[in-house]
Amino acid sequence: MAECGSRAHLIITLTPEGTTTNIVRRRMELRCGLVEGHDGPHRDAEHGEEWTAGPGRPPMLLRHEDEEPGS
Ligand SMILES: [Zn+2]
Repeated sequence: MAECGSRAHLIITLTPEGTTTNIVRRRMELRCGLVEGHDGPHRDAEHGEEWTAGPGRPPMLLRHEDEEPGS
């Protein structure tokens, strides 16, 4: 069976301690691995992300991560 293959961009941001500025930490490309024509949101199992998308350009997803405390 063919895969959906829908794509999206995931941007992970964080706010460095002591600032109020969001910076981009990582950019990833997501690819839906579900069966072509599936119901519901697209899903990239590898990255654990879901998204919905219409026709046209791949959507941009934003995810915020707090900076991990140094240990
Ligand atoms: Zn899909």
